[in-house]
Amino acid sequence: MEVVNPATEEVIASVASAGAADVDAAVAAARAGLDGPWGKMSARERGRLVSRLADRLMEKADEVARLETIHNGKPISESRNIEIPAAAECFEYFAGWADKVMGETIPVKGNHLTYTLREPIGVVAAIVPWNFPLLLAAWKVAPALACGNTVILKPASQTPLTAIALGEIAIEVGLPPGVLNVITGAGSTVGQALVEHPGIDKVAFTGDTTTGKAIMRSAAETLKTITLELGGKSPNIVLADADLDAALRGVAVGIFYGKGEVCAAGSRLLVDRAIKDEFIDKLAARTKKMVPGDPLDPKTRFGSVSSKKQLETVLRYIDSGRKEGATLVAGGERADIGTGKGYFVQPTVFADVTPEMTISREEIFGPVLAAIEFADLDEAIAKANDTPYGLAAGVWTRDIKKAHYVARKLQAGTVWINTYNVYDTAAPFGGYKQSGFGREMSAHALQHYTQVKSVWVDLNM
Ligand code: NAD
Repeated sequence: MEVVNPATEEVIASVASAGAADVDAAVAAARAGLDGPWGKMSARERGRLVSRLADRLMEKADEVARLETIHNGKPISESRNIEIPAAAECFEYFAGWADKVMGETIPVKGNHLTYTLREPIGVVAAIVPWNFPLLLAAWKVAPALACGNTVILKPASQTPLTAIALGEIAIEVGLPPGVLNVITGAGSTVGQALVEHPGIDKVAFTGDTTTGKAIMRSAAETLKTITLELGGKSPNIVLADADLDAALRGVAVGIFYGKGEVCAAGSRLLVDRAIKDEFIDKLAARTKKMVPGDPLDPKTRFGSVSSKKQLETVLRYIDSGRKEGATLVAGGERADIGTGKGYFVQPTVFADVTPEMTISREEIFGPVLAAIEFADLDEAIAKANDTPYGLAAGVWTRDIKKAHYVARKLQAGTVWINTYNVYDTAAPFGGYKQSGFGREMSAHALQHYTQVKSVWVDLNM
């Protein structure tokens, strides 16, 4: 399979397109890995190896960040300063958990000693999308390894390079054979084969909601454990009493960070009618200053869309916003950084969006913001929740009571108050409603990579 740099449209690499036999080989390797030195290692030793993944990743951060940028189009400043360190932090965090995953003793009736063991699930297939290829892999691989599983990692076809780099790092730090396997290929073949394979015990998936539903159906055949992190259409609510300068920054970061190709992107701005005109004017002015640039230039803050297909999707949604009567106040066109090449698009803001418009209902997964007005708090909450998704939400206000009231009412796995798009490995992340189930990062992730065994001992003398 050819890998294309979306900022130059050049083919930069080709990788293997795996078939069914390769999937069988990966599963056999991963199963053998469970029975090999990995399965016999102490939890602390396992943690130490996971921690070495973090260290080695940071030693190679420049190289890996460059790969992330050239196959995804995101600015090198984001890859080098945010994504790669966050991936390393994730390995470091879960390394610390390895020897702290414990069972319990249970006071049962009768004369028994009853205790639980928390055991690895077995072979985990980690299937990840193209927007944060390394970070989303780390969110799965790190807890899976820390809990003693073996992993088969399948990156998206467009962005396989950093998963391969992670595989090399695993070899360099001495992870035993079969513990982390990387397999490249199309979702419809390799991904599907992994989900159906009887030798795989768990699927951890991040991607599109439609794909997530298909995976759930396929996994039912073998009753695999699954966790799904899916799409979003997250609301960012600005109340009239908010610090409007902070809210402006937060709304812009919320939708334009990562070119809007962020599952939690604040793609719906809900703004109080009382401040709408002023806020939209300022937001439009700010957005017009955000100019796409060469992703490899350290000064660039806005890169290229990830692929030609994604560019076409974004432009199609912009077109639908225009046709359905929204007011375009910034952007709206394909952009050129002076090279005549690359899948660049202008950051785009639509005002006067109504809840039934396509751009307010469907996940665009690009730098397009739909601004919707509301008259009072309850209308804001109702509009915010009027979506099948429930991944994240933001609220901007100086009123502490209103802030917490709204946080409780919002149907979302993450709520940000007076901030947006902040993450930490110690805090859980995942969806409500059709944004999926299961939680990544934090102690909550451990339950998704372990299973509990009750052991009963008769103590009658
Ligand atoms: P996608 O569903 O098309 O692909 C994701 C991965 O699944 C890829 O590796 C792909 O090859 C594989 N795949 C595709 N079809 C498959 C099948 N039938 N069986 C098994 N695997 C299959 O998604 P995408 O376009 O790569 O990513 C964008 C989506 O990901 C967006 O909807 C976005 O919101 C979502 N996302 C969610 C989160 C989150 O944490 N909730 C994070 C990032 C992205």
